[in-house]
Amino acid sequence: MKQQTKVSTSSQVTTLQVSPGQIMRGKGAITEAGANIAQLGKRPLIIGGDRALKLIQPLLAPLCQEHDLTITSASHYPDSCEKSQQTLQAVVSDHQADLIIGVGGGKALDMAKLVASQCQLPMVTIPTSGATCAAWTALSNLYTEAGAFLYDVPLPYPPNLLILDYDLIETAPKRTLIAGIGDALAKWYEASVSSGHATASLTIAAVQQARVLRDILLQKSATALENPGGAVWQEIVDATVLLPGVIGGLGGANCRTVAAHAIHNGLTHIEATHNILHGEKVAYGILVQLRLEEMVENNQLAATARQQLLEFYSEIGLPKSLEDLGLENVTLTQLQQVAEIACAPNSDIHRLPFTVEPTELVAAMVSTTVTVNSKAAAKV
Ligand SMILES: [Zn+2]
Repeated sequence: MKQQTKVSTSSQVTTLQVSPGQIMRGKGAITEAGANIAQLGKRPLIIGGDRALKLIQPLLAPLCQEHDLTITSASHYPDSCEKSQQTLQAVVSDHQADLIIGVGGGKALDMAKLVASQCQLPMVTIPTSGATCAAWTALSNLYTEAGAFLYDVPLPYPPNLLILDYDLIETAPKRTLIAGIGDALAKWYEASVSSGHATASLTIAAVQQARVLRDILLQKSATALENPGGAVWQEIVDATVLLPGVIGGLGGANCRTVAAHAIHNGLTHIEATHNILHGEKVAYGILVQLRLEEMVENNQLAATARQQLLEFYSEIGLPKSLEDLGLENVTLTQLQQVAEIACAPNSDIHRLPFTVEPTELVAAMVSTTVTVNSKAAAKV
């Protein structure tokens, strides 16, 4: 079954990619997904990392028997990069795959979605952690083989089926859900800036949902993390895996990433950051963005928001500073490199309502934890 796609490009008509076609969620959701998968294809290619593939194979085996599926699997390593994309496209044609199933974290799912859309095949996403919203979105990030961010690719259609199995998510390290909380938090701080003074109904709805998402995360994350697998934990998993995608889907081009993700993208160019999760870098990036708003615009709301987040980060274990990211030995030259990349002409940092120079960005990066009322801090 070739995926039918028609994305309008006229100025009169926009095509929204709001949601996956179907979402199955619950403990043991995979074991009940056989018929839903078989409806989409009979020769799936499973794309994921080694851990995810090992985890998923025993769960999928009984479904294959019951629904007559012929599966094969392949790794997305070395990264969500152009080389993996070519290798995987060759696997698609060798296996005569008619469906792509992505299993894993953000990079595995991004690669699976990209391969599926380029081969015009339907796709299923099965996240194995709460670290990102990649299972939902019609977007893939591409990196170099060494893991430095290159660019993102908007996809013509979102996944046909998303399977959110809480049992699977619970096997992931706690740190991944904490990172997902950081990534999801960014929706409010970025969408409220990138939407500007937009009055369109869908944009307003999306930005308000981002605010609600922030409130849910601030109120429930600590309780959720204390009891993995519990009811509140499941609510926070929904909040990190599903809700950011709703906001991005509804808000479209008006709810894009701003400085927090631009800083993440810059940081990926330093090798020492490659063990730091996407959401951890983004969480730090939110503090840098707020710091910029304080420094450049003397924005007191941003100062208050930053103090509130510093407390929250301490409570749940998100990084507040370069030291927390393990970058205590980073050199000024490296920081300048990060800032230059984050301030490149096509960077989303320029969605801020003021211009940002790399030197200002470096000053913000090293001062994310200063106290609000410090006069010295205001002059950094
Ligand atoms: Zn993100």
